[in-house]
Amino acid sequence: MTSGARLVVLGRQGAGKGTQCVRLSRHYVIPHIATGDMLRAAVRAGTELGRRAKQIMDDGDLVPDEVMVGIVDERLERGDTTHRGYILDGFPRTVAQAEALAAITEARPLDVVIDLDVPTEVVLARLASRRACVDCGTNYSTSSPPRYGWRCDNCGGEVVQRDDDKPEAIKHRLAAYEAKTAPLIEWYKDRDLLEVVDGQGDPDEVTQRVVVAIDARRLA
Ligand code: AMP
Repeated sequence: MTSGARLVVLGRQGAGKGTQCVRLSRHYVIPHIATGDMLRAAVRAGTELGRRAKQIMDDGDLVPDEVMVGIVDERLERGDTTHRGYILDGFPRTVAQAEALAAITEARPLDVVIDLDVPTEVVLARLASRRACVDCGTNYSTSSPPRYGWRCDNCGGEVVQRDDDKPEAIKHRLAAYEAKTAPLIEWYKDRDLLEVVDGQGDPDEVTQRVVVAIDARRLA
C-alpha cells in the first residue's frame, strides 16, 4: 500500500476540489476532511453549530475562524488522521486559519499544499450547472446527472442545486475567495509547501497531475 500523506487542497469554488479530493483520499488511503460537508451535515442534523452556520453559508459568507479551527482541531485528533494522514478540503480559507493549522500540526507538519488552478470564468460556468447530493455531498452537473432521476448513484439521496450555488451567493463566495483565501497561495509559497496544478481538462488527467506533484514532493 502507498504511504499516507498530510495534504491541503486549495482552489476556487468549482475548481473540482471535491472530486479530486475523493480520488486522492482513495489513492493515498487517507480520510477526506471537507469542512463544507461537515457543516452541511451539522445543518441537516440541526445541531447548535448547524443553526449558527446555516444563514452564513446560504449567504456565501465564511463561518468565523475560531469555529472552524475548533472543528478541524477536534477532527485531526482522531486516530485515523494521526496514523496515515489526511486531505483537507475547504480548510484553511483564511491566513488566520492557516496559522492555526500550522500550530495544530506542528508535531506532524503538512507534506504539501495543492493549488488546483482553474480561472474564474471557467468555475462560474461549472458552478451554475453543479448539482449535489443532499445526503453525501457527491457532485453532479446538469450535463452529467445521476443515472436514475435526480437520485444519488452513491447513496440514493436527493440531488439538487445547493443554496450557495445560486447566482448571488456564487458571486459572494468567489469574492470572498479572492479577498480571504487567495492570499494563502503566497503564504504557502513562502513556506515552500505550494504546488500549483492546472485543474482544467479531463478529471483523470487532473488526478494524475496532482499525484505526480505530491509524489515528487514527498520523494524530494
Ligand atoms: P464548501 O463546500 O467548501 O464550498 O463550503 C461551503 C460553505 O461552508 C462555505 O461557503 C462557508 O460558508 C462554509 N465553510 C466551509 N469551510 C469553511 C472554512 N474553512 N472557513 C469558513 N467557512 C467555511
